[in-house]
Amino acid sequence: MGKLLIVGSVAFDDIETPFGKSDKILGGAGTFIGLAASQFEVKSAVVSVVGDDFPQNYIDLFTERDIDVSGIEIVKGGKTFYWKGKYHNDLNSRDTLITELNTMANFNPVVPDEFTDADVVMLGNLHPDIQTGVIDQLKKRPKLIIADTMNFWMNNTWDELMKVIERIDVLTINDEEARQLTNEHSLLKAAAKIQEMGPKYVVIKKGEHGALLFHKDHIFFAPALPLEEVFDPTGAGDTFAGGFAGYLAETKNISFESMKNAIIHGSNLASFCVEKFGTERMLTLKKQEVDNRLLQFKELTQFNIELT
Ligand code: AMP
Repeated sequence: MGKLLIVGSVAFDDIETPFGKSDKILGGAGTFIGLAASQFEVKSAVVSVVGDDFPQNYIDLFTERDIDVSGIEIVKGGKTFYWKGKYHNDLNSRDTLITELNTMANFNPVVPDEFTDADVVMLGNLHPDIQTGVIDQLKKRPKLIIADTMNFWMNNTWDELMKVIERIDVLTINDEEARQLTNEHSLLKAAAKIQEMGPKYVVIKKGEHGALLFHKDHIFFAPALPLEEVFDPTGAGDTFAGGFAGYLAETKNISFESMKNAIIHGSNLASFCVEKFGTERMLTLKKQEVDNRLLQFKELTQFNIELT
């Protein structure tokens, strides 16, 4: 069984969408990545930090899914990372109203011994120095290091971010962030520039318009499944990343062909995540539902044009 090491925020989220408010619920990039990856046959661990205000029953949600939590530090008297966001009517954009780093501000990640030889490492969106701190603890070069990031780190920690980008194999990033990172409007040019910075694979996420995978001259596109109702997009990007990393860790096959499937698995899982608030939908998700929707994906994207 492949080993997957995840680092990312484990958080309290407070979300407002045009359809309602969530109050303080379980969130965080590490949480969404871990839940998505738990759909695969992998041995996974989440490395993160919370305060002692973080309820045990939330931790249990990880352990019930065989996610190793020995790398989740619980700081006595500390407060858990808190994020509050409000979506605009089109659900494609949101405003971050509050980010309280709390215990995350002084976080020194400690990778559990058993995961220092992970096959796949997924560095969730966090301060690049934390991402570097995780890479530095690995005893063996993983088959694949994937990292996610966002405009906040580009604006505030450019040099630190570049040091991470040099060392990874796959960067997952959204379209606007890819443009900001490279100063290129064309996503093709942006992906080529990112590959020059280090990662040989680039995944550009386009929200409800799907995701693109780039590697040298190869490009693959996966649509997002058209859904009747999108309730809350929070965590869709992380769920996508968790599905992508989970599939690759399960198969231990990091060829371009395998990555194409990984992109489809990521998109498939993200399509569930957005159906309810926060992690709610991912917590009830069954294998049969996942498989049924994969079939829908197949039907959506297959055609048979005969060229003469
Ligand atoms: P996504 O919707 O995929 O961009 O991810 C949303 C999740 O990212 C929420 O659950 C937040 O708790 C978490 N998050 C938001 N901002 C940050 C940040 N600066 N660092 C780490 N995690 C964050």
